[in-house]
Amino acid sequence: MHDIVILGGGSGGYATALRASQLGLSVVLIEQDKLGGTCLHRGCIPTKALLHAAEVADTAREGEAFGVHSTFNGIDMTKVNSYKDGVIGRLYKGLQGLVASRAITYVEGYGRLVSPNTVEVNGERYEGRNVVLATGSYARSIPGLDIAGRVMTSDQALQLDYVPTSVIILGGGVIGVEFASVWRSFGVDVTVIEGLPTLVPAEDAAVSKAMERAFRKRGINFKTGVRFQSATQDDSGVNVTLETGETLRADLLLVAVGRGPRTEGLGYEEQGVAMDRGFVLTNERLATNVPGVFAVGDIVPGLQLAHRGFQQGIFVAEEIAGLAPLAIDETGIPRVTYSEPEIASIGYTEAQAKEKFGEIESYEYNLGGNGKSQILGTAGFIKLVRQKDGPVVGVHMIGSRVGELIGEAQLVYNWEASPEDVTPLIHAHPTQNEAFGEAFLALAGKPLHAHA
Ligand SMILES: Cc1cc2nc3c(=O)[nH]c(=O)nc-3n(C[C@H](O)[C@H](O)[C@H](O)COP(=O)(O)OP(=O)(O)OC[C@H]3O[C@@H](n4cnc5c(N)ncnc54)[C@H](O)[C@@H]3O)c2cc1C
Repeated sequence: MHDIVILGGGSGGYATALRASQLGLSVVLIEQDKLGGTCLHRGCIPTKALLHAAEVADTAREGEAFGVHSTFNGIDMTKVNSYKDGVIGRLYKGLQGLVASRAITYVEGYGRLVSPNTVEVNGERYEGRNVVLATGSYARSIPGLDIAGRVMTSDQALQLDYVPTSVIILGGGVIGVEFASVWRSFGVDVTVIEGLPTLVPAEDAAVSKAMERAFRKRGINFKTGVRFQSATQDDSGVNVTLETGETLRADLLLVAVGRGPRTEGLGYEEQGVAMDRGFVLTNERLATNVPGVFAVGDIVPGLQLAHRGFQQGIFVAEEIAGLAPLAIDETGIPRVTYSEPEIASIGYTEAQAKEKFGEIESYEYNLGGNGKSQILGTAGFIKLVRQKDGPVVGVHMIGSRVGELIGEAQLVYNWEASPEDVTPLIHAHPTQNEAFGEAFLALAGKPLHAHA
């Protein structure tokens, strides 16, 4: 009998294993495919490598504006892929080494929950005082739209060995806009279709609007508030019909309409685990209704992000070890969209904050007044939302590289700091981070490089 048996070796599962082994618990980690899961092999890392290659392409294209002779001569997808796969390979090796160096029994194979405390893999049974379900998610499609040939999800798009001429992207959320951004930088004619009224609809309305402006400027086409109806493909392309009757044609159709929980056929329901539309339900301590069975990562309703999975894994290991860790505040999880421009946010949007707290104040500091952003040639803003005379309850940013600024926002939100708490802290000049300092100063009633 082990202390913990973990089913799934992605962000949530391996974080549980690493923390549990640190705490001296005996751990079994079961993975059918590659340690590291979606994020490392088919998600965060490969997409960000492509986005970096895209940034290099843009830099080459825009060199003349900075007085640097450079031209963009095209993309060699084989080389881009080998750069991307090199990054994944090094991180994969490092992760394998880390797990091997700990007292973790790593089992390769497809597991099923065959009793509330037992997972069966290749005919072997692994019993645990606790079981952690961490089987992650898969790319969804929509009814009647088969993923095949020229109709693909992010899984196939990340393996493409050529740059298409034109692409239609179904879904203007994080994954959709990241691919739109990469392909546009690679010279592709891109059209995004989003059923909701704006791109990145989960973000603060001001950010969504700014994103649409930026995409328009970059020549990325998008249609919002319109639903997809059907698609057909032939030897040379895909025809997409919208419910308005309009038809579009492109080389490829990328379906980026969200990710479903990978829980079917794994024995969860048979063992009495409460589920909702395939997601595993937990309380705030990540315990399911079945004693000793926990769940982490994308199968738990909420933000499907790797760092949420990491933190949930650490939490569950500590919970099982009896350390009574602090419950995770879902609103305090940072969210970054790594397109050009980038979007980074935490906490409540202005509309949500109004609804929750009643009286609020907000301030938008335009990056036009920020030296480093001017040097980089980026536009955008940092928007702060605070409870009236109280702490900052939302931070919303858009602009090149603002993803790297989320660290300060994360601390301010989670420490419930008010602008007055942070204005005595000094921001280095000239950095983009400095724009934070300016926004805090303005909200505290003493703007420096901004009009009152
Ligand atoms: C294109 C894309 C880009 C993304 N970018 C980001 C980003 O920039 N930042 C971010 O935070 N998040 C990003 N994500 C989301 C992130 O990848 C997920 O939130 C994260 O991987 C979830 O971790 P997880 O452990 O729940 O699941 P997964 O990483 O999916 O891992 C689950 C693991 O369980 C294994 N498994 C499943 N069933 C079984 C079974 N029966 N037996 C054995 N093993 C099994 C799977 O093989 C898999 O390895 C992105 C996702 C995608 C698709």
